[in-house]
Amino acid sequence: MLDLAIVGGGPAGLTAGLYATRGGLKNVVMYEKGMPGGQITQSSEVENYPGIEKIVTGMELMEPWPKQCMRYGLKHDMSEVLRVEKVKDYFKIILNDGREEEALSVIVCTGSTPKKAGFEGEDEFFGRGVSTCATCDGFFYKDKEVAILGGGDTALEEALYLANICSKVYLIHRRDKFRASPSTVERVKKSDKIEFVLNSKVKKVYGSAMGVEGVITVGNDGSERDIKVPGIFVFVGMDVNNEVLKQKDGSFLCEVNQWGQVVVDLGMQTDIEGLFAAGDIRIEAPRQVVCAASDGATAALRVISYIEHKKG
Ligand code: FAD
Ligand code: NAP
Repeated sequence: MLDLAIVGGGPAGLTAGLYATRGGLKNVVMYEKGMPGGQITQSSEVENYPGIEKIVTGMELMEPWPKQCMRYGLKHDMSEVLRVEKVKDYFKIILNDGREEEALSVIVCTGSTPKKAGFEGEDEFFGRGVSTCATCDGFFYKDKEVAILGGGDTALEEALYLANICSKVYLIHRRDKFRASPSTVERVKKSDKIEFVLNSKVKKVYGSAMGVEGVITVGNDGSERDIKVPGIFVFVGMDVNNEVLKQKDGSFLCEVNQWGQVVVDLGMQTDIEGLFAAGDIRIEAPRQVVCAASDGATAALRVISYIEHKKG
């Protein structure tokens, strides 16, 4: 029986592993289906991780993290977790190779994935002008013009964030009605830096080896527009990676909100005793490495108290 099973080996899972093992838990396994590091390893430039003054790639940032955790006894099992189930007062971890492991506590750190919009050039220029994170990449476009795609709360809130940094923001949306809350829409309308490009889709982004040079939109009436910007931010929704919490009957093991994000308290505890969630999978996640790491530490510290109490 494991003291703790960690599902996912991104910044949240790795930090949970570090704090749990250094905090004295003996039997801790981190299930990570790929190489540890998480989605930040896709980034070519990270400049907002505190203490790392140099601009580094996501790979460079994450490279020492697993080594540091393993030193204190964290084990990495390179397997995909299919499902976490609650049995009496412990958890069953069901793996894709047919194994089933048992754990007294679980921290789920499987993250969330931004949806793609599906326009030409979206993949080709991802990380070279196409971004899904304004907090991460907005600063690279300081005093430049950028475009945003989407009409939800995220798109409009990030338009306001980018308007503070960039010289102009083109907000491209396929309708003229927004899903975002009316108060946010009003704030966006009041900004003289944000121009609406409504009833329009992105047909393609184009550019060179250096990155994006522009965006071609096509309106509902068929008219095309060439918006010359070096960057486009795509905010068309998120897929929360909560599959491991889905039970055989389709219900979730713990409470999730209407968007599938796991509901936790300030200690990252779900409504199921012994089950925690940390990082981008949880409600109101700021979707930053430093925040995911902080969640992982918080969850692990709570797990240590939980296990102490459980073992008496
Ligand atoms: P993730 O990093 O998503 O890790 C989840 C891990 O779980 C993955 O490794 C995955 O393989 C594993 N997993 C998923 N399902 C299973 C399963 N069933 N079984 C086993 N393993 C599983 N943040 C910043 O702070 N600064 C930046 O500059 C920045 N730039 C970014 C650039 C890009 C291109 C991207 C994509 C993200 C960027 N972010 C940045 C955001 C940052 O990467 C995330 O907020 C952070 O990685 C979230 O950490 P996490 O541990 O919650 O989840
Ligand atoms: P969302 O509400 O699902 O909005 C996605 C937007 O992208 C929609 O406007 C949608 O257009 C558009 N879209 C989807 N697929 C597209 C495509 N292929 N091409 C072009 N446009 C596309 O997603 P979100 O903004 O990330 O928000 C997710 C949830 O979190 C929401 O319910 C939101 O309210 C919540 N949230 C809340 C806050 C807050 O309360 N402060 C902040 C952020 C997010 P259509 O409108 O035409 O469908």
